Amino acid sequence: MHELSLVSSLLEMIVEDAQKRGFKKVTCVRLSVGEYSGANRQVLEFALEHLSRGTPLEGAAFDLAVEEASCLCNNCQLTFKPEQPFFTCPFCGRASSSFVKGKEVYIDYYEGE
Ligand SMILES: [Zn+2]
Repeated sequence: MHELSLVSSLLEMIVEDAQKRGFKKVTCVRLSVGEYSGANRQVLEFALEHLSRGTPLEGAAFDLAVEEASCLCNNCQLTFKPEQPFFTCPFCGRASSSFVKGKEVYIDYYEGE
């Protein structure tokens, strides 16, 4: 996970959107951080603080909310909460599942003025 490039592209998206809406300043940003996104919270916070300097996001309150992971079993179609390390399906026991939630870092919402 490359937190710096991830945060830099998220900030760019917010700046672009804030300009369209006519916001001069972004006051708070809430990011959803997937439980299994591999993003390190401290690194994310560091990147947010540093990369927002000199942008309309400088001084904004950054809130990082953990998104619980959810998997879909490719065999029986059960949706379940994965447990490390094998992510096996609790119903059929197969270890063949895909993440439906909890692998991404995305912007939940932001506020500006
Ligand atoms: Zn299953």
